Amino acid sequence: MSTSTAPPAELAPVVDAFAAAAAGQRRLVIRGGGSVLDRLPPTDAEVVSTAELTGVIDHRPEDLVVTVRGGTPLQELAALLATHGQECPIEPLAGHGSTVGGRVAAALAGPRQLQAGRVRDWVLRVRMVTGDARVVTAGGVTVKDVTGYDLCRLAAGSWGSLGLLAEITLKLRPIPTQSAWFTTHLPAGRILSTLYRPAAVVSTPTGTFVHLEEHPDDVAAQATVAGLEPAAAPRWPTAARAAVDPARLREVTALAASAGLDHTAFEGVGVCLVDGDADAIATFGDRVVRLGGHLLHLDAGAHGGPARATTTDAMGERVRAALDPHRILLDPRESR
Ligand SMILES: Cc1cc2nc3c(=O)[nH]c(=O)nc-3n(C[C@H](O)[C@H](O)[C@H](O)COP(=O)(O)OP(=O)(O)OC[C@H]3O[C@@H](n4cnc5c(N)ncnc54)[C@H](O)[C@@H]3O)c2cc1C
Repeated sequence: MSTSTAPPAELAPVVDAFAAAAAGQRRLVIRGGGSVLDRLPPTDAEVVSTAELTGVIDHRPEDLVVTVRGGTPLQELAALLATHGQECPIEPLAGHGSTVGGRVAAALAGPRQLQAGRVRDWVLRVRMVTGDARVVTAGGVTVKDVTGYDLCRLAAGSWGSLGLLAEITLKLRPIPTQSAWFTTHLPAGRILSTLYRPAAVVSTPTGTFVHLEEHPDDVAAQATVAGLEPAAAPRWPTAARAAVDPARLREVTALAASAGLDHTAFEGVGVCLVDGDADAIATFGDRVVRLGGHLLHLDAGAHGGPARATTTDAMGERVRAALDPHRILLDPRESR
C-alpha cells in the first residue's frame, strides 16, 4: 500500500469531507448507484456520493486490463468493453444503476462465481480515500507490482467501511462466444458431476437451472450429455440473501423450504436468495447464522433489525481501526 503525496484534484472534496467528519465526529455512508444501499434500513449518516467520479481512465484491450473511476455505472463499462469483445464477469445479478465501486465494495457473489471466481479475483489495483482521509493505492497490474498490504482484497466486500474506492483496475477476459440458460429436473449434484465447468448451476423449487458459456459446439454437446432443455434465466428473489459454506447449502435450502420461503440457490457458491413473509425470513436468518453463515435483509428494514444477521468479525474490526480510526464510515448493514 502506498500513500499519495499529491492526490488527484478530483478527490479533494472527498478528502475534505472525510477530514471534516472526523473533526466533527459525524458519520458518513458512501453511496454508489444506491441499488443495494437504498434497500437497507435508513441511517442518520451523511451521504457521500460517487456520482461525480465516473469514466474510464485507461483501457488496454491488448493487456485485458481497464482502470475506471469508482462511480462509473457497470452497464456503461460493460457496453464499452463489449465493443472490444471483452468483459469483466462480475456483472451484478440485479441492481439497475449499480456502479463499479459499489459492486466491488459489496462483492456479493453471483451465480457465475462458480466458474468465474470471486469479485476480488478480478480486482488488480485500487486507489482509495481511507477513513482517515489518506489517498492510498494498493495492488498492481502485474504480479511484480503487488507488494505490501493487500488492500485490494480487503476493499472487496468492505461495504464502504474502510474508505471510498475512487479508482479500480480490473482484469478482463474475452466474452464467451455463446452464453445460454438451460433447465433440467436432475438434481444439482448430478449436474455438477456430469458437466465440465458450467458457468452457473442454480436450484429452485421447480427445477435446476444451468448456465453454459463456451464455444457453441461445446454448449450443444454439454446440453446433450446432461439432457438439458433451453430456458430463460431463473427469477431472482430479492427480500434477503443467505450466504454459507457451499457444503451447507443443501441445509439452507431445506430450511427455506420448511419456512415456506420462495428460494433460489447458487450451487457451489453457497448463496440462497429468498422471498416471503418478513417474520419467517427473520427466523430463517437466525438458523442460517447457527449454520455458520449470515443473512442480508434487502427489504428496507421490513424485519425491524439491522440488515445483517451474522457473528462478529474480529479481524475485520482490526482492519477498520487501522484505516478508519475515528470510525466515520458506516457499514450500512449494521445500523438503522
Ligand atoms: C435485492 C438485490 C440483491 C442482489 N443480490 C445480488 C447477488 O446475490 N449477487 C450479485 O452478484 N449481485 C447482487 N445484487 C447486485 C449488486 O451486487 C449490487 O446492485 C451492486 O453491487 C451495488 O452497487 P451500487 O453502486 O448500487 O452500490 P450501493 O447500493 O450504492 O452501495 C452498496 C455498498 O457499497 C458501498 N459503496 C458504494 N460505492 C462505493 C465506493 N465507490 N467505494 C466504497 N464503498 C462503496 C456502499 O457504502 C454500500 O455499503 C443484488 C442487488 C439487489 C438490488
